[in-house]
Amino acid sequence: METLHVFREQGRSARHDSGGDNGVPNEVEEQAKRAVRDAGIQMARSGLVAGTWGNVSSRVSQREMVITPSGMDYFKLEPCDIVTVDLETLTPRGRWKPSVETPLHAAIYRSRPEIAAVVHTHSTYACTVAAARKEIPPILDEMVQIAGGSVKVAAYSLPGSNELVEAVLTALQGRTAALLANHGAICLGRSIQEALVTAVVVEKAAKVFILSELIGGAVPLGPKEIGIMREFFLNRYGQRLQETIE
Ligand SMILES: [Zn+2]
Repeated sequence: METLHVFREQGRSARHDSGGDNGVPNEVEEQAKRAVRDAGIQMARSGLVAGTWGNVSSRVSQREMVITPSGMDYFKLEPCDIVTVDLETLTPRGRWKPSVETPLHAAIYRSRPEIAAVVHTHSTYACTVAAARKEIPPILDEMVQIAGGSVKVAAYSLPGSNELVEAVLTALQGRTAALLANHGAICLGRSIQEALVTAVVVEKAAKVFILSELIGGAVPLGPKEIGIMREFFLNRYGQRLQETIE
């Protein structure tokens, strides 16, 4: 699996905002903003997104998440540019407008309590399969371990729409990744690091799926093997995953 280094830039300090009135310590919120800023840079450097497309968020409490602002260059973002958003009301708190996909990120956190981070990518091979409106079958061990099985494709709807939210939540059932028809991929994790690794693994699986089609088609794994590997990843693979991202 491709090694993924989560970018940590030293010496750049966040300007502190007025956090703390929401029950979340300033430090926790600031840390989450830094992690989201770093993950955005990592996504751009890894080629998972280009320009200002895609977005990243992290849950900071049961009530709030922090998310990248709409349409801003990842390499120019400071932690203080990341926007705090109420998961129920979608009310933003920050200096910029939050990502257009804010309703989708919030809906995922509301319906998936185990999820702590969401990344939305426009990577080439995932987009290719998404444009063909096909699902990625369960063809690789690491894919079924981290994503939970096949990566389904959500029916097409315009970015930012309620219809897209519903379609993506449906495609994500029992999974930590989904494709968005003619658009990209969305990947979830119990941490930002895990969500980023999921995005890399989904991109690899999409590439392998496309290449396999050229030589007769991939043979999918069976439900029993998928169940065993997913359980192993969730409950016994933590230390080994940590080693791959350090
Ligand atoms: Zn997008």
